[in-house]
Amino acid sequence: MDDVIITVAVTGAETTREQVPTLPFTPQEIADETARSFEAGASIVHLHVREDDGTPTQDRDRFAKTIELIRAKCPILIETTTGGAAGMPDEDRLQPISLRPPMASLDCGSVNFGDEVLINTFGQMQFYARQMAKHDVKPTLECFDIGHIHNAHLLIERGILDPPHHFGLVLGVAGGIPATPRCLQAMVENLPDNSLWTVIAVGGKASALLHPLALALGGHVRVGFEDSIYVRKGVVAESNADLVRHVASLARKMGREVADVAAVQKTLGIFVAPSARREPETKPT
Ligand code: ZN
Repeated sequence: MDDVIITVAVTGAETTREQVPTLPFTPQEIADETARSFEAGASIVHLHVREDDGTPTQDRDRFAKTIELIRAKCPILIETTTGGAAGMPDEDRLQPISLRPPMASLDCGSVNFGDEVLINTFGQMQFYARQMAKHDVKPTLECFDIGHIHNAHLLIERGILDPPHHFGLVLGVAGGIPATPRCLQAMVENLPDNSLWTVIAVGGKASALLHPLALALGGHVRVGFEDSIYVRKGVVAESNADLVRHVASLARKMGREVADVAAVQKTLGIFVAPSARREPETKPT
């Protein structure tokens, strides 16, 4: 796919309002921020939800409310997290899957995550993948290291994941693969043939370095307060939409257009239930 798919991760589980005062917490705030990001060019929202005080939660009702508010505003594709936050049990992490979002993240291995550990055994990965298949949810295969790509290959060999595969390559987590051009290139070279991949660069420096490289290599880009709060060196973005606009502008300068929702759905083979389907809106250029 030549056009660039921009995913926006509007809040995550770790970012705080001390870092970015406009970080969205409530379902309405997350929906408003998602709609602004859609208008700026995002076609997928990677969705975490929070309690009103900012505590990360995987509560099904909270996801349901947030998804309802997002769908009332824009037809962006919703990718719920199943990573949740470090230490959450499987039952919690999988709660949003029963809402049948079009997409969800699937962590492809365990990793040190700052001072915590994200645990994803093969048994868990297979269980999550099967739950997603049962609910017609397209996984984004999140890989925090090259070994995770190897894990994805093993799951594919076992017939657990259906093509086309969409990878989220996460670089720059303390404990995961470093955010360097050579590391990104090594990850890309190890992907299954004909995969789509989205770079998820953690931190301002990593984003500034790897977003243009991903665009040059034919990849796709995720931005948002979950990954980096900086729109340029030392400048905190006011909105996730600023981060989306920045990468959309960079893509166009490099000769790539920004993919719309319909094109992404078609490319990834995503079925959207009629109740969730909305007429596409005209996006500003
Ligand atoms: Zn996430």
